[in-house]
Amino acid sequence: MKLETVLLKEKLNRNDLTYLLNLEKEEELEKLFARAYEVKSEYIGKKVYYRGLIEFSNKCIKNCFYCGIRRDNGEVERFDMTEEQVIEQAKWAYENNYGSLALQSGERQDADYIQFVDNILEKVKELSGGKLGITLSLGEQSYETYKRWYDLGAHRYLLRIESSNKDIYSKLHPEDELHSFEKRVECLKMLKEIGYQVGTGVMIGLPGQTVEDLADDILFYEKMDIDMIGMGPYIPHDDTPMGRGIADSKEESDRKFKLGLKMIAVARIYLKDVNIAATTALQAINPLGREKGLKAGANILMPIITVDEHRAKYQLYNNKPCIDDNADKCKNCLAGRVTSVGDEIMYGEWGDSPHYYKKKG
Ligand code: SAM
Ligand code: SF4
Repeated sequence: MKLETVLLKEKLNRNDLTYLLNLEKEEELEKLFARAYEVKSEYIGKKVYYRGLIEFSNKCIKNCFYCGIRRDNGEVERFDMTEEQVIEQAKWAYENNYGSLALQSGERQDADYIQFVDNILEKVKELSGGKLGITLSLGEQSYETYKRWYDLGAHRYLLRIESSNKDIYSKLHPEDELHSFEKRVECLKMLKEIGYQVGTGVMIGLPGQTVEDLADDILFYEKMDIDMIGMGPYIPHDDTPMGRGIADSKEESDRKFKLGLKMIAVARIYLKDVNIAATTALQAINPLGREKGLKAGANILMPIITVDEHRAKYQLYNNKPCIDDNADKCKNCLAGRVTSVGDEIMYGEWGDSPHYYKKKG
């Protein structure tokens, strides 16, 4: 009885959020996911939008303790896609009606890198006559750089806060200027001020992270007036300080998976009109991850279209899916997955966050 009442409340409070995130019984979870899907249908429609994901470089100046492409991981073969390779993949996305691109890389802030991104933005706009939407996920940059890329046509930016709990954040990162929690929050504010649709997110199932922390993450999204959310389970990587010698048991990865779906559902029910991605990390720990993410209220998929030769080198965590696939294969396998859920793929559309436009009035 209590569950039905909470699910239909106009405005949930922190206790409600933790209550929902603590649900475990199968029949209760079904009700939670069904309600989230209902909210998605009402505010977004039974629709899925694609962002063709190009991971164009795994070089990174940062040293996040969880990430497989961190600076000090000497086991990684580093790569940069050439401008031509990026443009070719962008063209593929455009010709296959993907609607939007997401450009991601390790973090760099030097002039050559900034210029490289400038060139790509100009060329992508040119090749698609301005039709291909662009999301960037290129880490922390100066106000001027963010503004420059916005003026060149990027209109969405994803910068995960990783955890809104400062203590947890400090355990995930070295303690120095380059890895400051405050700076990251400041970046989210700058992006908003410039006019981007702003996305953030957290890793789920981090060591020491409680359900209360996750409820606070959702409240953080609200407080920061976030338009898009990309969050997924934390998966250990062997060659990192946090992941060395730790492989999640089946039980642990099932727990994270369930928690990941609950986070999507509760964020959907609470925030209603934001874009929420069913991330690759969800699929990495469960073959049905992305479909289940859509069923729990997500409406964005980011099919990987990184060139084949580099896919395996962009390994953030163990067992990343699709690294042996090519873009065409991924396209077909995803389309089948989406249809099985009852959603429609909105080919050729940007699929901007309704939340962003609502605020703009
Ligand atoms: N360098 C940029 C940044 O950090 O914002 C963008 C690329 S970074 C690889 C994208 C995201 O990957 C991070 O925000 C983090 O949440 C996620 N990630 C990295 N290592 C991970 C891991 N071991 N498990 C799950 N997600 C991970
Ligand atoms: Fe670099 Fe991003 Fe990985 Fe941190 S999460 S090490 S910034 S790629």
